[in-house]
Amino acid sequence: MARVLNFSAGPAVMPEVVLRQAQEEMLDWRGTGACVAELSHRGAPFMALASEVEADVRNLLAVPESHAVLFLAGGATTLQALLPLNIAKQGQRADYLVTGHWAKVAMKQAAPAADVHVVASGEAGQFRSIPPRSEWQRSPDAAYFHVTANETIHGVELPDDIDAGTSAPLIADFSSNIASRPSDLSRYAMVYAGAQKNLGPSGITLAIIRKDLLERRGQPRADILTWASHAAQGSMLNTPPTWNWYLLGLCVRWMIEQGGTAEFARRNGEKSALVYAAIDDSEGFYRNDVVTSARSRMNIPFVLHDAALDAAFLAESQAAGLIGLKGHKAIGGMRASLYNAMPVDGVRVLVDFMHDFRKRHG
Ligand code: PMP
Repeated sequence: MARVLNFSAGPAVMPEVVLRQAQEEMLDWRGTGACVAELSHRGAPFMALASEVEADVRNLLAVPESHAVLFLAGGATTLQALLPLNIAKQGQRADYLVTGHWAKVAMKQAAPAADVHVVASGEAGQFRSIPPRSEWQRSPDAAYFHVTANETIHGVELPDDIDAGTSAPLIADFSSNIASRPSDLSRYAMVYAGAQKNLGPSGITLAIIRKDLLERRGQPRADILTWASHAAQGSMLNTPPTWNWYLLGLCVRWMIEQGGTAEFARRNGEKSALVYAAIDDSEGFYRNDVVTSARSRMNIPFVLHDAALDAAFLAESQAAGLIGLKGHKAIGGMRASLYNAMPVDGVRVLVDFMHDFRKRHG
């Protein structure tokens, strides 16, 4: 069976060459006579892999020396809950910019351990734009300021690295747009991302944390919930998700070989422009209501002018080998996710399908 074009929001498409390499190495990885998933994380072969992957992540994302790189289990959501425990005092203010569903989740996870404060929210406008900076109400005493770089469900993306000033460390959820363009990580005290979109498989979460933040006392918590302890142990405080780490490493190496974040910025700009043009030039057949300046390059939600056509759109796209286009239940309609591993030619197939579907059902 031919491989489908996978527009799923995550877990998502991975580069075919990565999957083939994993297949080839499955039974005998690097001459060990074993699958990487069968080997001790404390053995020399895996330790070597771990340091190679860290070096590649630092290279791909231009991680400054001031920041530690952690590979954690638990997903982005667990990390959101650990955030105040690690870097805020009990009940201390924590600022959140609310740009969509995932910003709200981040706030909800932190709420038991911090006095969460909404700096500004796009909810009244159904998250179709990013609240302008002039409306942000930051707290002078906040432990940190949290933003969501890309809203996977609402299709809203911060257009650039924000300059948050110096009053509180800037923390960004980059789950759905990490490595999609060059980013100045020195502006962030911490960025984090579940790997299952732009970095490969689910089950592993990347956290890049400025080292001085790790020295904060935070709140009473177990050692296993303490990022400083993970950093001190090379993310091997307990058994890490080794297979996922390996796959993430293959994806990161692939991105470097493809030309790095500058090249992906170019491709992602081209891909998203193709889909937005198909929507905007459809004379209302397809619609995306996000203001142009806040439109995501990674996740493009859209509705059909008549929801009665949704089932046909999904069935026919699936039959044409295009999967994962059903929108999130929170907002309905369709969604095309265009992560780094989705080639430009794959997006052309989607756009051709959208034109053709419109001709047949318009
Ligand atoms: N943040 C964003 C922006 C996301 O898209 C997601 C998952 N779709 C999450 C957080 C939650 O990630 P996880 O499922 O890895 O906990």
